Amino acid sequence: MKIFSHNKKLNALSFDLDISQCSKSCELYQSGLIPYCKQSLDRLFFSPFALRLKRNSRKIKLDNFEKLVNQELRGLRPNNNLIRLYSFGDLSNIEDLKKWVRISKMNKNKLFWLSTRQDSILFEYLEQLGGVIPQNLTIRYSLPLIDTPKFIDEFLKKHGIVKSQIVDKKINSNCQASKDNKNRGCRDCFKCWTKTDLINYFNHGNMKHRLKDYLRFFK
Ligand code: SF4
Repeated sequence: MKIFSHNKKLNALSFDLDISQCSKSCELYQSGLIPYCKQSLDRLFFSPFALRLKRNSRKIKLDNFEKLVNQELRGLRPNNNLIRLYSFGDLSNIEDLKKWVRISKMNKNKLFWLSTRQDSILFEYLEQLGGVIPQNLTIRYSLPLIDTPKFIDEFLKKHGIVKSQIVDKKINSNCQASKDNKNRGCRDCFKCWTKTDLINYFNHGNMKHRLKDYLRFFK
């Protein structure tokens, strides 16, 4: 049973989890707001994809998880070199992050893009353990906020972590997929896999109905 699935919108392979772990440290979820990923998962509850998410949540805890991932990546065609980590779900602890760092080092011919909201895990790994992020792993700190506090920005910059934000006007977005009326996905763009700060996604789809709630919560 494969760990990665093909993400049609991104035209890339994707590793995803259910939210059983990350929801425990998600301030939105814990405060009664519905994160956008939860809305999507509700719709997909009994789908094969939802079952894959549950399976992956168990697999990432296995001792041989890295071996399984490395085997699967080695079997890919050479042009399959974009790997997205956590379109759904998020890091649940520092061990998950260490695994992806080691996997990235083992697969230098691939580009990894890991989105996370788990600043405490990043802080522990980078500041307390002195961890380093490999060149082919782009960590993108993502919040449903217009701005992040200055001290977080400084921490991210220091460690080469880039950022994504949600904007509510198309004109302010630099993401072709989220502005595209024809919903054609990323096509030839792979900016999110590069350490380009910053990507502004246009607030659309499920997020459209949640942005006001999120902003009220964070202000
Ligand atoms: S910036 Fe490019 S790679 Fe990132 S989501 Fe938008 S279209 Fe896709």
